[in-house]
Amino acid sequence: MAKSPKQYCNFCGRPDHEVGMLLTGMNGLICDECAKRAYEVVKESAPGKKSKTNFSLAQQELPRPKDIKAFLDQYVIGQDDAKRYLSVAVYNHYKRLMQNKSDDDVEIEKSNIIMVGPTGTGKTLLAKTIARLLKVPFTIVDATVLTEAGYVGEDIESLLTRLLQVADYKVEDAERGIVFIDEIDKIARKGDNPSITRDVSGEGVQQGLLKLLEGAVVNVPPQGGRKHPDQKMIPVDTKNILFICGGAFEGIEKKIAQRLNTQVVGYTASETNKKVDRNNLLQYISPQDLKAFGLIPEIIGRLPILTYLKPLDRTALRNILTEPKNSIIKQYVKMFEMDHVQLTFEDKVLDYIVDKAIEFKLGARGLRSITEDIMIEAMFEMPSSEEKELHVTLAYAKERIENIEYQ
Ligand code: ADP
Repeated sequence: MAKSPKQYCNFCGRPDHEVGMLLTGMNGLICDECAKRAYEVVKESAPGKKSKTNFSLAQQELPRPKDIKAFLDQYVIGQDDAKRYLSVAVYNHYKRLMQNKSDDDVEIEKSNIIMVGPTGTGKTLLAKTIARLLKVPFTIVDATVLTEAGYVGEDIESLLTRLLQVADYKVEDAERGIVFIDEIDKIARKGDNPSITRDVSGEGVQQGLLKLLEGAVVNVPPQGGRKHPDQKMIPVDTKNILFICGGAFEGIEKKIAQRLNTQVVGYTASETNKKVDRNNLLQYISPQDLKAFGLIPEIIGRLPILTYLKPLDRTALRNILTEPKNSIIKQYVKMFEMDHVQLTFEDKVLDYIVDKAIEFKLGARGLRSITEDIMIEAMFEMPSSEEKELHVTLAYAKERIENIEYQ
């Protein structure tokens, strides 16, 4: 279609034959050059833009371990040991980054962390929460996507792609960042694997990961995934990147029990035996147990801080429902508030949700899905009704859940 010669850019006033393209809006036109300039201006002044990429550190504004823990307490229930370890590790990471190398010969070595705990006890939540107050780039990656070079899956270096992206591809910033590697237990060597095919997610992957943990210059594919020959790689030095690993290590209690049992065969047997709390063996976890589970000793050596998360008991689950700053119940109240409905719960409903989560063996993860099941009908009906209040009673909650259970 031929352009009308009378069209002008409403921003710079140039006629259509002087510009590459004129875009039509509701009440005017904009040329390609002005659109580009407008985009640049918006990009420069976007709120939060500066803080996102400004990862500079100043000693006085660093959160101290106690501040970090107090912050974590607002979002994560219990898990005090893990919180302390994490708070100290993050604080020390900052200190390492700030140390003046020319001062003396004392170089603070980095201490990567490994957190062991049943699924749904707050490992990822801890990592995500810590990310909110961090002053360095941070990312969560999943170890399950990794495979040895040559197999289907992602190369180990791709773990750092996300970190680069968070750092806006500023390599210098990414090199001071923190990476949370989830499901690290999935790359453990499966010693009793009866399969005759090679163990693709085993030792080879661990060897690759070791390189990252130790500190090396690795070539990172900027878009992630598998490397291919034409892709331009970005070299990243991992020496100062802090790695926090997390995993459920299902069945590791057996290894811990075995070790404790063999230990107690000595003459101190009765002494040690008395103290062992069989219900929470994870608290006795030691590097040997990780080795017995299938992590290679070199990897364990590079994860010198080992901490654990406790299984969540009834009280913890009940607290998770209401206490954290963005607890599940607070989220529902807020959602209804947006429809001008005041939502309240009978106390017994909260106990009932906890009971069901325990009954279904869903842990904290189950709290949300059970609450969702109770609320779905109301969430469907209320926005179109005139009601301004909703009080959820035990009878109502039971009816909703039973309805779903018997479907
Ligand atoms: P995992 O240990 O498997 O990484 P997550 O951290 O993903 O578990 O926990 C799943 C969900 O359960 C979280 O999003 C959160 O809602 C809840 N949750 C688990 N543990 C806690 C906790 N200690 N405090 C508060 N909420 C928790």
